[in-house]
Amino acid sequence: MTTQSQIDALRSETVAAQSLFIDNATVEGTAEPMAVTSPIDGTQLTTIANATSGEVDLAVASARTAFNDGRWSRLAPAARKKILFAVADAIEADALALSVLGIRDNGTEFAMAYKAEAGSAAATFRYYAEAIDKTPGEIAPTAPGTLGLVHHEPVGVVGAIIPWNFPLMIGAWKIAPAIAAGNSIVVKPAETASLSLLRLAEIAAGAGLPAGVLNVVTGDGRIAGDALARSMDVDVLAFTGSGMTGRKLLEASAQSNLKRVYLELGGKSPNVVFADAPDLDKAAAVSAGGIFRNAGQVCVAASRLLVERSIHDDFVAALKSHAEAFKVGDPLDLNTQIGAVNSETQLAGNLRLTEAAISEGAECITGGNRILEDTGGSYMAPTILSGVTPTNTVFRKEVFGPVLAVTPFDTEEEAVQLANDSDLGLAAGVWTSNLSRAHNMISAINAGVVHVNTYGGPDNTVPLTGHKQSGNGSDKSLHALDKYTNLKTAWIQL
Ligand code: NAD
Repeated sequence: MTTQSQIDALRSETVAAQSLFIDNATVEGTAEPMAVTSPIDGTQLTTIANATSGEVDLAVASARTAFNDGRWSRLAPAARKKILFAVADAIEADALALSVLGIRDNGTEFAMAYKAEAGSAAATFRYYAEAIDKTPGEIAPTAPGTLGLVHHEPVGVVGAIIPWNFPLMIGAWKIAPAIAAGNSIVVKPAETASLSLLRLAEIAAGAGLPAGVLNVVTGDGRIAGDALARSMDVDVLAFTGSGMTGRKLLEASAQSNLKRVYLELGGKSPNVVFADAPDLDKAAAVSAGGIFRNAGQVCVAASRLLVERSIHDDFVAALKSHAEAFKVGDPLDLNTQIGAVNSETQLAGNLRLTEAAISEGAECITGGNRILEDTGGSYMAPTILSGVTPTNTVFRKEVFGPVLAVTPFDTEEEAVQLANDSDLGLAAGVWTSNLSRAHNMISAINAGVVHVNTYGGPDNTVPLTGHKQSGNGSDKSLHALDKYTNLKTAWIQL
């Protein structure tokens, strides 16, 4: 059980200026470093290196050498498994310090960060460690006299570009399957959430991961991220972030070596509540968590509530009381339920989209404003906007903040139409006690995950897959290994 005094001791530690992590060693950046501002109180926490394209090339070269000489790629899968288990154990051993460091950087509330960041990263390393010596190739059902073998081979060098909301969890979703499959990887964390991934790379090196297999280059996405995307020696690029950046990465691939690009982009996920939901109180409580946890900075956040008109007023009232009861504030206070917004830029965007919604006719039921300004940090009140119609910007545009858009519906058909009226298709929720309706909604909603009578609940056993403009390819589950492997056929005349 973590105590407040343990957290307080860790939060007061000075964080040294950070370097790049290449070939299992720290490498000083040559460009002017970037300041790291803590969203908890607006103070400068430390600096990170702002990698140049030359430094990114150095990291890619290190990854390539490690791949080509076979120090990792040609180890028996069972040997890789052993080291990956050691990495998972080492993450767990350092989980508290890792979580506190990450929270000081990105602002996620402790309860969520401890579980979803360090805890989930360790579990992800373990999942792919366990998987990698249990995923054999294939023998094709060929005619007698020929033998068709399908080998699964690592692609070589993977580039991974990570967002700031869950750097360790999302980072592990890419790093663990990529290196389990025998690849080397170069990771570019977000400008406002690099510290825990840098620490993770050191932990992995300490646990026995050979040099060059996991490299971390920090800095400006437009420089370091772009260099990774344009590298002629990166075979696969795995990205989580905004659609705007995703488009640039596809262009960069087209203009360089046609590397495969996998995109996990944003969502505007509908959460459909029918009057026949089994437990409306639970539906309200879970729906509130589904949008407001981590200050709404969750890719699958249930940001569009579609609620049957007959229960609309009561349901919105219940949500309002949950929203107002949340304790928002210092994410390192164990009593806090919702932490900081990641940055001043993000907070300004949240407020701008909220104001636009109101000017377009939505009613602000609660929140809508910045709070706790005297802390110097970036905090926003959980916000509910009702009367949102499909013509409102907030119905379509992802806020990526604690802002819920509410729209009533009258029939199941209308609910489906509203749910699918989006360019995005990452996640959805359905609340009903009618089994047929639940299955019909699962089939009708175009999204990568449809939750029924719950919302959220990450687990490595199932894929996270964006439909429509929410992306392509899958993180998590055995399907993620497909991104980081090539199929090779051996066709043999006997
Ligand atoms: P972002 O696209 O601005 O940044 C993501 C990463 O891309 C950062 O590391 C950044 O440095 C880098 N980057 C920025 N410009 C780049 C460029 N020109 N070339 C290469 N790299 C570049 O997104 P963000 O603000 O960090 O993250 C928020 C977005 O991510 C939201 O839209 C959210 O829904 C999405 N997201 C999706 C998932 C998912 O699994 N689908 C998970 C978390 C977040």
